[in-house]
Amino acid sequence: MVEKLLDKAWPAAFALFLALAALPSLVFLVLVLLGYLPLYPALLAWGVCAAVGGTFSILLGRDLVVMTRLVRALRLAPGTLPSETMLLVPGMRQLGQEAIRLIHAERLSRARQLAIAAEDRALVERLPDPLLKLDEDSKILWRNDSALSAFGGEMAALLRHPDVRDALAEAAEIKVAVRREVVLSVPVARDLDVTMIPVGGPVYMLVNDRTHERALEKMRADFVANASHELRTPLASLIGFIETLRGPAADDPEAQERFLGIMAEQAARMQRVIADLLNLSRIEITEHSPPKELVNLPPLLERIVAGMEPMLKANDSRLEVEVPADLPKVPADADQLTQVFVNLLDNALKYGKRGGVIKLTASVAPDTRFEPGGVAISVADDGIGIPREHIPRLTERFYRVDKGRSRAIGGTGLGLAIVKHVVNRHRGRLLVESEAGKGSVFTIWLPGRGG
Ligand code: ADP
Repeated sequence: MVEKLLDKAWPAAFALFLALAALPSLVFLVLVLLGYLPLYPALLAWGVCAAVGGTFSILLGRDLVVMTRLVRALRLAPGTLPSETMLLVPGMRQLGQEAIRLIHAERLSRARQLAIAAEDRALVERLPDPLLKLDEDSKILWRNDSALSAFGGEMAALLRHPDVRDALAEAAEIKVAVRREVVLSVPVARDLDVTMIPVGGPVYMLVNDRTHERALEKMRADFVANASHELRTPLASLIGFIETLRGPAADDPEAQERFLGIMAEQAARMQRVIADLLNLSRIEITEHSPPKELVNLPPLLERIVAGMEPMLKANDSRLEVEVPADLPKVPADADQLTQVFVNLLDNALKYGKRGGVIKLTASVAPDTRFEPGGVAISVADDGIGIPREHIPRLTERFYRVDKGRSRAIGGTGLGLAIVKHVVNRHRGRLLVESEAGKGSVFTIWLPGRGG
Protein backbone atom coordinates (compact mmCIF):
# COMPACT_ATOMS: atom_id res chain seq x y z
CA MET A 1 0.00 0.00 0.00
CA VAL A 2 2.83 2.34 0.95
CA GLU A 3 4.60 1.42 -2.30
CA LYS A 4 1.48 2.18 -4.26
CA LEU A 5 1.20 5.51 -2.49
CA LEU A 6 4.79 6.31 -3.41
CA ASP A 7 4.12 5.26 -7.01
CA LYS A 8 1.34 7.84 -7.11
CA ALA A 9 3.52 10.39 -5.34
CA TRP A 10 6.37 10.25 -7.87
CA PRO A 11 5.07 12.74 -10.41
CA ALA A 12 4.33 15.35 -7.73
CA ALA A 13 7.65 14.65 -5.97
CA PHE A 14 9.55 14.94 -9.23
CA ALA A 15 7.86 18.21 -10.11
CA LEU A 16 8.61 19.58 -6.64
CA PHE A 17 12.20 18.43 -6.87
CA LEU A 18 12.64 20.17 -10.22
CA ALA A 19 11.14 23.35 -8.82
CA LEU A 20 13.32 23.23 -5.69
CA ALA A 21 16.59 22.08 -7.29
CA ALA A 22 16.59 24.04 -10.56
CA LEU A 23 17.72 27.43 -9.22
CA PRO A 24 20.42 26.19 -6.76
CA SER A 25 21.83 23.90 -9.49
CA LEU A 26 22.03 26.84 -11.91
CA VAL A 27 23.78 28.96 -9.24
CA PHE A 28 26.30 26.16 -8.54
CA LEU A 29 26.91 25.71 -12.26
CA VAL A 30 27.50 29.45 -12.85
CA LEU A 31 29.81 29.72 -9.81
CA VAL A 32 31.84 26.70 -10.99
CA LEU A 33 32.03 28.00 -14.58
CA LEU A 34 33.13 31.45 -13.39
CA GLY A 35 35.76 29.80 -11.24
CA TYR A 36 34.40 31.07 -7.94
CA LEU A 37 33.91 27.50 -6.68
CA PRO A 38 36.22 24.53 -7.18
CA LEU A 39 34.43 21.62 -8.93
CA TYR A 40 34.49 18.85 -6.26
CA PRO A 41 33.44 20.91 -3.23
CA ALA A 42 30.76 22.44 -5.45
CA LEU A 43 29.55 18.97 -6.54
CA LEU A 44 29.50 17.85 -2.87
CA ALA A 45 27.50 20.93 -1.80
CA TRP A 46 25.15 20.46 -4.78
CA GLY A 47 24.75 16.73 -3.90
CA VAL A 48 23.80 17.55 -0.28
CA CYS A 49 21.32 20.20 -1.44
CA ALA A 50 19.85 17.78 -4.02
CA ALA A 51 19.54 14.97 -1.43
CA VAL A 52 17.74 17.25 1.07
CA GLY A 53 15.54 18.72 -1.68
CA GLY A 54 14.78 15.23 -3.10
CA THR A 55 13.83 13.78 0.29
CA PHE A 56 11.64 16.77 1.08
CA SER A 57 10.01 16.51 -2.37
CA ILE A 58 9.22 12.82 -1.90
CA LEU A 59 7.72 13.40 1.55
CA LEU A 60 5.71 16.40 0.42
CA GLY A 61 4.62 14.62 -2.79
CA ARG A 62 3.46 11.64 -0.73
CA ASP A 63 1.59 13.91 1.72
CA LEU A 64 -0.04 15.72 -1.18
CA VAL A 65 -1.39 12.39 -2.50
CA VAL A 66 -2.68 11.47 0.99
CA MET A 67 -4.37 14.88 1.30
CA THR A 68 -5.88 14.56 -2.17
CA ARG A 69 -7.37 11.22 -1.20
CA LEU A 70 -8.73 12.64 2.04
CA VAL A 71 -10.37 15.56 0.28
CA ARG A 72 -11.78 13.22 -2.38
CA ALA A 73 -13.27 11.07 0.40
CA LEU A 74 -14.87 14.22 1.79
CA ARG A 75 -16.36 15.05 -1.60
CA LEU A 76 -17.65 11.59 -2.45
CA ALA A 77 -18.51 10.61 1.14
CA PRO A 78 -17.53 6.96 0.81
CA GLY A 79 -18.26 4.49 3.58
CA THR A 80 -14.76 4.61 5.06
CA LEU A 81 -11.75 6.91 5.26
CA PRO A 82 -8.81 6.16 2.93
CA SER A 83 -6.52 3.50 4.46
CA GLU A 84 -3.59 5.93 4.75
CA THR A 85 -4.29 9.17 6.58
CA MET A 86 -0.92 9.77 8.27
CA LEU A 87 0.90 12.90 7.04
CA LEU A 88 4.67 13.13 7.49
CA VAL A 89 5.65 16.73 6.75
CA PRO A 90 5.24 18.68 10.05
CA GLY A 91 2.94 21.51 8.89
CA MET A 92 0.89 19.12 6.77
CA ARG A 93 -0.02 16.96 9.77
CA GLN A 94 -2.25 19.66 11.32
CA LEU A 95 -3.78 20.30 7.93
CA GLY A 96 -4.56 16.59 7.58
CA GLN A 97 -6.14 16.42 11.04
CA GLU A 98 -8.34 19.39 10.21
CA ALA A 99 -9.35 17.68 6.96
CA ILE A 100 -10.32 14.50 8.85
CA ARG A 101 -12.37 16.54 11.36
CA LEU A 102 -14.07 18.24 8.44
CA ILE A 103 -14.87 14.86 6.87
CA HIS A 104 -16.41 13.62 10.13
CA ALA A 105 -18.44 16.80 10.62
CA GLU A 106 -19.63 16.64 7.02
CA ARG A 107 -20.66 12.99 7.37
CA LEU A 108 -22.52 13.70 10.58
CA SER A 109 -24.46 16.57 9.05
CA ARG A 110 -25.19 14.49 5.95
CA ALA A 111 -26.54 11.66 8.12
CA ARG A 112 -28.68 14.18 10.03
CA GLN A 113 -30.03 15.60 6.78
CA LEU A 114 -30.87 12.09 5.54
CA ALA A 115 -32.68 11.32 8.81
CA ILE A 116 -34.69 14.57 8.56
CA ALA A 117 -35.51 13.84 4.90
CA ALA A 118 -36.66 10.32 5.88
CA GLU A 119 -38.91 11.79 8.61
CA ASP A 120 -40.38 14.30 6.14
CA ARG A 121 -41.00 11.51 3.63
CA ALA A 122 -42.66 9.34 6.30
CA LEU A 123 -44.90 12.26 7.26
CA VAL A 124 -46.21 12.85 3.73
CA GLU A 125 -46.47 9.11 3.12
CA ARG A 126 -48.72 8.76 6.17
CA LEU A 127 -50.67 11.98 5.65
CA PRO A 128 -54.36 11.05 5.88
CA ASP A 129 -55.16 13.28 2.89
CA PRO A 130 -54.20 12.21 -0.63
CA LEU A 131 -51.06 13.97 -1.86
CA LEU A 132 -49.63 13.72 -5.38
CA LYS A 133 -46.54 15.21 -7.00
CA LEU A 134 -47.20 16.16 -10.62
CA ASP A 135 -45.20 17.54 -13.48
CA GLU A 136 -46.68 20.31 -15.62
CA ASP A 137 -48.33 17.75 -17.93
CA SER A 138 -50.26 16.17 -15.01
CA LYS A 139 -47.96 13.16 -15.00
CA ILE A 140 -47.74 11.61 -11.54
CA LEU A 141 -44.15 11.71 -10.28
CA TRP A 142 -45.05 10.40 -6.83
CA ARG A 143 -48.14 9.84 -4.68
CA ASN A 144 -48.76 8.83 -1.09
CA ASP A 145 -50.68 5.76 0.08
CA SER A 146 -53.82 7.78 0.89
CA ALA A 147 -54.00 8.93 -2.76
CA LEU A 148 -53.86 5.33 -3.91
CA SER A 149 -56.50 4.06 -1.51
CA ALA A 150 -58.79 7.07 -2.09
CA PHE A 151 -58.69 7.07 -5.89
CA GLY A 152 -57.03 3.86 -7.11
CA GLY A 153 -58.22 3.38 -10.68
CA GLU A 154 -60.07 6.71 -10.65
CA MET A 155 -56.80 8.71 -10.42
CA ALA A 156 -56.62 9.25 -14.21
CA ALA A 157 -60.22 10.55 -14.29
CA LEU A 158 -59.41 12.98 -11.48
CA LEU A 159 -56.31 14.32 -13.25
CA ARG A 160 -58.22 14.68 -16.53
CA HIS A 161 -60.94 16.77 -14.85
CA PRO A 162 -60.96 20.25 -16.48
CA ASP A 163 -60.98 22.07 -13.10
CA VAL A 164 -57.97 20.05 -11.90
CA ARG A 165 -56.09 20.78 -15.14
CA ASP A 166 -56.94 24.48 -14.86
CA ALA A 167 -55.77 24.67 -11.26
CA LEU A 168 -52.50 22.89 -12.16
CA ALA A 169 -51.81 25.22 -15.11
CA GLU A 170 -52.61 28.30 -13.01
CA ALA A 171 -50.46 27.22 -10.07
CA ALA A 172 -47.53 26.42 -12.39
CA GLU A 173 -47.90 29.83 -14.02
CA ILE A 174 -48.40 32.15 -11.05
CA LYS A 175 -46.17 30.08 -8.70
CA VAL A 176 -48.68 30.44 -5.86
CA ALA A 177 -50.93 27.76 -4.30
CA VAL A 178 -54.31 27.48 -6.05
CA ARG A 179 -57.43 25.93 -4.44
CA ARG A 180 -60.45 24.59 -6.35
CA GLU A 181 -63.65 22.77 -5.54
CA VAL A 182 -63.97 19.79 -7.87
CA VAL A 183 -67.01 17.58 -8.32
CA LEU A 184 -66.26 14.12 -9.72
CA SER A 185 -69.41 12.58 -11.14
CA VAL A 186 -68.26 9.06 -12.05
CA PRO A 187 -68.29 6.35 -10.79
CA VAL A 188 -69.91 8.03 -7.75
CA ALA A 189 -70.34 11.72 -7.06
CA ARG A 190 -67.46 13.09 -4.97
CA ASP A 191 -66.92 16.61 -3.68
CA LEU A 192 -63.24 17.41 -3.47
CA ASP A 193 -61.19 20.42 -2.41
CA VAL A 194 -58.04 20.34 -4.51
CA THR A 195 -55.03 22.53 -3.66
CA MET A 196 -52.15 22.83 -6.11
CA ILE A 197 -48.89 23.85 -4.42
CA PRO A 198 -46.08 24.75 -6.84
CA VAL A 199 -42.56 24.04 -5.52
CA GLY A 200 -40.34 25.16 -8.37
CA GLY A 201 -40.64 22.59 -11.18
CA PRO A 202 -43.17 20.05 -9.89
CA VAL A 203 -46.53 20.85 -8.32
CA TYR A 204 -47.93 19.10 -5.24
CA MET A 205 -51.64 18.33 -5.33
CA LEU A 206 -53.36 18.00 -1.96
CA VAL A 207 -56.88 16.57 -2.03
CA ASN A 208 -59.42 17.01 0.71
CA ASP A 209 -62.39 14.69 0.18
CA ARG A 210 -65.46 16.61 1.38
CA THR A 211 -67.95 14.06 -0.02
CA HIS A 212 -68.76 12.75 3.41
CA GLU A 213 -69.43 16.18 4.95
CA ARG A 214 -71.44 17.42 1.96
CA ALA A 215 -73.38 14.15 1.76
CA LEU A 216 -74.23 14.61 5.43
CA GLU A 217 -75.41 18.19 4.83
CA LYS A 218 -77.50 17.17 1.81
CA MET A 219 -78.80 14.11 3.59
CA ARG A 220 -80.01 16.18 6.52
CA ALA A 221 -81.77 18.63 4.24
CA ASP A 222 -83.34 15.86 2.09
CA PHE A 223 -84.37 13.88 5.12
CA VAL A 224 -86.23 16.80 6.64
CA ALA A 225 -87.95 17.67 3.35
CA ASN A 226 -88.90 14.08 2.43
CA ALA A 227 -89.84 12.96 5.88
CA SER A 228 -92.06 15.95 6.56
CA HIS A 229 -93.72 15.53 3.17
CA GLU A 230 -94.29 11.80 3.50
CA LEU A 231 -95.33 11.89 7.13
CA ARG A 232 -97.57 14.94 7.08
CA THR A 233 -100.49 13.17 5.37
CA PRO A 234 -100.74 10.07 7.57
CA LEU A 235 -100.12 12.21 10.65
CA ALA A 236 -102.94 14.59 9.67
CA SER A 237 -105.22 11.61 9.12
CA LEU A 238 -104.24 10.13 12.52
CA ILE A 239 -105.09 13.43 14.23
CA GLY A 240 -108.39 13.52 12.33
CA PHE A 241 -109.27 9.98 13.47
CA ILE A 242 -108.34 10.76 17.08
CA GLU A 243 -110.69 13.76 17.02
CA THR A 244 -113.45 11.62 15.49
CA LEU A 245 -112.93 8.91 18.11
CA ARG A 246 -113.15 11.49 20.89
CA GLY A 247 -116.17 13.23 19.37
CA PRO A 248 -118.73 11.82 16.93
CA ALA A 249 -117.54 8.18 17.20
CA ALA A 250 -117.11 8.19 20.99
CA ASP A 251 -120.13 5.92 21.44
CA ASP A 252 -119.85 3.90 18.22
CA PRO A 253 -117.80 0.72 18.93
CA GLU A 254 -118.10 -0.44 15.31
CA ALA A 255 -116.66 2.83 13.91
CA GLN A 256 -113.99 2.81 16.63
CA GLU A 257 -112.89 -0.67 15.58
CA ARG A 258 -112.68 0.38 11.92
CA PHE A 259 -110.88 3.67 12.64
CA LEU A 260 -108.37 2.03 14.96
CA GLY A 261 -107.55 -0.47 12.19
CA ILE A 262 -106.86 2.39 9.73
CA MET A 263 -104.86 4.26 12.37
CA ALA A 264 -102.69 1.20 13.04
CA GLU A 265 -102.05 0.91 9.29
CA GLN A 266 -101.11 4.60 9.00
CA ALA A 267 -98.78 4.36 12.01
CA ALA A 268 -97.11 1.24 10.58
CA ARG A 269 -96.62 3.05 7.28
CA MET A 270 -95.01 6.01 9.01
CA GLN A 271 -92.74 3.58 10.83
CA ARG A 272 -91.73 1.95 7.52
CA VAL A 273 -91.01 5.33 5.90
CA ILE A 274 -88.82 6.39 8.82
CA ALA A 275 -86.98 3.03 8.84
CA ASP A 276 -86.34 3.22 5.06
CA LEU A 277 -85.18 6.83 5.25
CA LEU A 278 -82.75 6.04 8.04
CA ASN A 279 -81.51 3.03 6.08
CA LEU A 280 -80.98 5.14 2.99
CA SER A 281 -79.02 7.71 4.98
CA ARG A 282 -76.78 5.03 6.46
CA ILE A 283 -76.06 3.61 3.00
CA GLU A 284 -75.34 7.05 1.52
CA ILE A 285 -72.77 7.74 4.23
CA THR A 286 -70.76 4.65 3.22
CA GLU A 287 -71.28 5.07 -0.53
CA HIS A 288 -67.85 6.53 -1.31
CA SER A 289 -65.94 3.56 0.14
CA PRO A 290 -66.55 0.27 -1.68
CA PRO A 291 -66.84 -2.85 0.50
CA LYS A 292 -63.75 -5.06 0.78
CA GLU A 293 -65.12 -8.19 2.46
CA LEU A 294 -65.64 -11.15 0.08
CA VAL A 295 -69.16 -12.55 0.09
CA ASN A 296 -70.36 -15.94 -1.08
CA LEU A 297 -73.68 -15.17 -2.78
CA PRO A 298 -75.42 -18.61 -3.02
CA PRO A 299 -75.91 -19.09 0.78
CA LEU A 300 -76.90 -15.42 1.16
CA LEU A 301 -79.58 -15.75 -1.55
CA GLU A 302 -80.71 -19.07 -0.08
CA ARG A 303 -81.37 -17.43 3.30
CA ILE A 304 -83.33 -14.60 1.66
CA VAL A 305 -85.42 -17.08 -0.36
CA ALA A 306 -86.21 -19.08 2.79
CA GLY A 307 -87.41 -15.89 4.48
CA MET A 308 -89.75 -15.12 1.55
CA GLU A 309 -91.68 -18.43 1.81
CA PRO A 310 -94.64 -17.15 3.88
CA MET A 311 -95.20 -14.14 1.55
CA LEU A 312 -94.97 -16.36 -1.54
CA LYS A 313 -97.53 -18.71 -0.06
CA ALA A 314 -99.86 -15.86 0.83
CA ASN A 315 -99.68 -14.61 -2.76
CA ASP A 316 -99.93 -18.08 -4.30
CA SER A 317 -96.73 -17.28 -6.20
CA ARG A 318 -93.90 -19.56 -7.11
CA LEU A 319 -90.20 -18.65 -6.89
CA GLU A 320 -87.81 -20.38 -9.28
CA VAL A 321 -84.18 -20.14 -8.19
CA GLU A 322 -81.27 -20.72 -10.54
CA VAL A 323 -78.10 -19.88 -8.63
CA PRO A 324 -74.98 -21.96 -9.38
CA ALA A 325 -73.32 -23.12 -6.17
CA ASP A 326 -69.84 -22.32 -7.55
CA LEU A 327 -70.55 -18.64 -8.15
CA PRO A 328 -67.29 -16.72 -7.49
CA LYS A 329 -67.14 -14.63 -4.32
CA VAL A 330 -67.51 -10.88 -4.80
CA PRO A 331 -66.41 -7.91 -2.65
CA ALA A 332 -69.67 -6.89 -0.98
CA ASP A 333 -71.48 -5.79 2.14
CA ALA A 334 -73.62 -8.82 3.00
CA ASP A 335 -76.23 -6.83 4.99
CA GLN A 336 -76.68 -4.22 2.29
CA LEU A 337 -76.94 -6.87 -0.46
CA THR A 338 -79.54 -8.71 1.60
CA GLN A 339 -81.55 -5.50 1.69
CA VAL A 340 -81.23 -5.14 -2.10
CA PHE A 341 -82.52 -8.63 -2.91
CA VAL A 342 -85.26 -8.46 -0.27
CA ASN A 343 -86.47 -5.19 -1.84
CA LEU A 344 -86.38 -6.60 -5.39
CA LEU A 345 -88.13 -9.84 -4.45
CA ASP A 346 -90.65 -7.89 -2.37
CA ASN A 347 -91.41 -5.65 -5.38
CA ALA A 348 -91.69 -8.70 -7.65
CA LEU A 349 -94.31 -10.01 -5.24
CA LYS A 350 -96.10 -6.68 -4.80
CA TYR A 351 -96.23 -5.81 -8.49
CA GLY A 352 -96.24 -9.41 -9.79
CA LYS A 353 -99.30 -11.44 -10.75
CA ARG A 354 -101.19 -13.22 -8.03
CA GLY A 355 -100.26 -16.84 -8.57
CA GLY A 356 -97.43 -15.78 -10.89
CA VAL A 357 -93.86 -16.98 -11.21
CA ILE A 358 -90.83 -15.04 -9.95
CA LYS A 359 -87.37 -16.04 -11.17
CA LEU A 360 -84.16 -15.44 -9.27
CA THR A 361 -81.13 -16.21 -11.43
CA ALA A 362 -77.43 -15.60 -11.01
CA SER A 363 -74.56 -16.11 -13.40
CA VAL A 364 -71.00 -15.00 -14.08
CA ALA A 365 -71.65 -11.78 -16.07
CA PRO A 366 -73.70 -13.40 -18.79
CA ASP A 367 -73.60 -11.02 -21.75
CA THR A 368 -71.90 -8.05 -23.36
CA ARG A 369 -74.01 -5.50 -21.47
CA PHE A 370 -71.69 -6.07 -18.53
CA GLU A 371 -67.95 -5.90 -18.19
CA PRO A 372 -66.22 -9.28 -18.13
CA GLY A 373 -65.77 -10.74 -14.67
CA GLY A 374 -68.20 -10.08 -11.86
CA VAL A 375 -71.58 -11.59 -11.20
CA ALA A 376 -75.06 -10.72 -12.51
CA ILE A 377 -78.18 -11.48 -10.43
CA SER A 378 -81.67 -11.01 -11.87
CA VAL A 379 -85.13 -10.89 -10.33
CA ALA A 380 -87.87 -11.34 -12.95
CA ASP A 381 -91.62 -11.25 -12.52
CA ASP A 382 -94.58 -11.67 -14.83
CA GLY A 383 -96.60 -8.84 -13.29
CA ILE A 384 -97.90 -5.42 -14.32
CA GLY A 385 -94.60 -4.21 -15.77
CA ILE A 386 -93.48 -0.59 -15.97
CA PRO A 387 -94.23 1.85 -18.82
CA ARG A 388 -90.98 2.82 -20.55
CA GLU A 389 -91.10 6.54 -19.62
CA HIS A 390 -91.05 5.73 -15.89
CA ILE A 391 -88.01 3.45 -15.96
CA PRO A 392 -85.27 6.16 -15.73
CA ARG A 393 -86.91 7.72 -12.64
CA LEU A 394 -87.69 4.57 -10.63
CA THR A 395 -84.69 4.92 -8.32
CA GLU A 396 -85.56 8.46 -7.21
CA ARG A 397 -86.72 8.75 -3.62
CA PHE A 398 -90.50 8.42 -3.31
CA TYR A 399 -90.98 7.95 -7.07
CA ARG A 400 -93.85 5.59 -7.78
CA VAL A 401 -95.50 4.70 -11.06
CA ASP A 402 -98.86 4.41 -9.36
CA LYS A 403 -98.83 6.24 -6.03
CA GLY A 404 -102.18 4.90 -4.90
CA ARG A 405 -101.30 1.29 -5.63
CA SER A 406 -97.89 1.54 -3.98
CA ARG A 407 -99.43 3.09 -0.84
CA ALA A 408 -102.23 0.55 -0.77
CA ILE A 409 -99.79 -2.34 -0.74
CA GLY A 410 -97.54 -0.79 1.89
CA GLY A 411 -94.82 0.66 -0.34
CA THR A 412 -92.70 3.58 0.83
CA GLY A 413 -91.27 4.58 -2.55
CA LEU A 414 -87.76 4.16 -1.14
CA GLY A 415 -86.99 0.51 -1.96
CA LEU A 416 -85.35 1.10 -5.35
CA ALA A 417 -83.52 4.21 -4.09
CA ILE A 418 -81.91 1.95 -1.49
CA VAL A 419 -81.09 -0.60 -4.23
CA LYS A 420 -79.44 2.10 -6.38
CA HIS A 421 -77.27 3.48 -3.57
CA VAL A 422 -76.11 0.02 -2.47
CA VAL A 423 -75.25 -0.89 -6.08
CA ASN A 424 -73.37 2.41 -6.45
CA ARG A 425 -71.37 1.70 -3.32
CA HIS A 426 -70.44 -1.68 -4.77
CA ARG A 427 -69.41 0.06 -8.02
CA GLY A 428 -71.95 -2.22 -9.73
CA ARG A 429 -74.80 -1.58 -12.16
CA LEU A 430 -78.57 -1.81 -12.02
CA LEU A 431 -80.43 -2.64 -15.22
CA VAL A 432 -84.22 -2.45 -15.45
CA GLU A 433 -86.03 -4.08 -18.37
CA SER A 434 -89.77 -4.03 -18.44
CA GLU A 435 -92.78 -4.06 -20.65
CA ALA A 436 -96.09 -2.77 -19.36
CA GLY A 437 -98.45 -5.67 -18.76
CA LYS A 438 -95.82 -8.36 -19.27
CA GLY A 439 -93.47 -8.11 -16.33
CA SER A 440 -90.12 -6.71 -15.28
CA VAL A 441 -86.54 -7.89 -14.91
CA PHE A 442 -84.23 -6.11 -12.44
CA THR A 443 -80.60 -7.15 -12.98
CA ILE A 444 -77.73 -6.25 -10.70
CA TRP A 445 -74.15 -6.63 -11.83
CA LEU A 446 -71.46 -6.68 -9.17
CA PRO A 447 -67.78 -6.37 -10.12
CA GLY A 448 -65.50 -9.30 -9.28
CA ARG A 449 -62.42 -9.20 -7.08
CA GLY A 450 -60.28 -7.47 -9.71
CA GLY A 451 -62.85 -4.75 -10.48
P1 ADP B 1 -92.35 1.07 -3.40
O1 ADP B 1 -92.18 1.07 -1.95
O2 ADP B 1 -93.37 2.04 -3.89
O3 ADP B 1 -92.47 -0.29 -4.00
P2 ADP B 1 -89.81 1.16 -4.77
O4 ADP B 1 -88.76 2.18 -4.73
O5 ADP B 1 -89.46 -0.22 -4.38
O6 ADP B 1 -90.99 1.73 -3.90
O7 ADP B 1 -90.37 1.14 -6.23
C1 ADP B 1 -90.70 2.35 -6.88
C2 ADP B 1 -91.79 2.14 -7.91
O8 ADP B 1 -91.30 1.31 -8.97
C3 ADP B 1 -92.96 1.39 -7.36
O9 ADP B 1 -93.88 2.27 -6.72
C4 ADP B 1 -93.54 0.76 -8.60
O10 ADP B 1 -94.37 1.69 -9.25
C5 ADP B 1 -92.34 0.51 -9.47
N1 ADP B 1 -91.85 -0.90 -9.38
C6 ADP B 1 -90.86 -1.37 -8.64
N2 ADP B 1 -90.69 -2.69 -8.84
C7 ADP B 1 -91.60 -3.06 -9.75
C8 ADP B 1 -91.94 -4.31 -10.39
N3 ADP B 1 -91.28 -5.42 -10.12
N4 ADP B 1 -92.94 -4.29 -11.29
C9 ADP B 1 -93.60 -3.15 -11.56
N5 ADP B 1 -93.32 -1.96 -11.00
C10 ADP B 1 -92.36 -1.91 -10.11
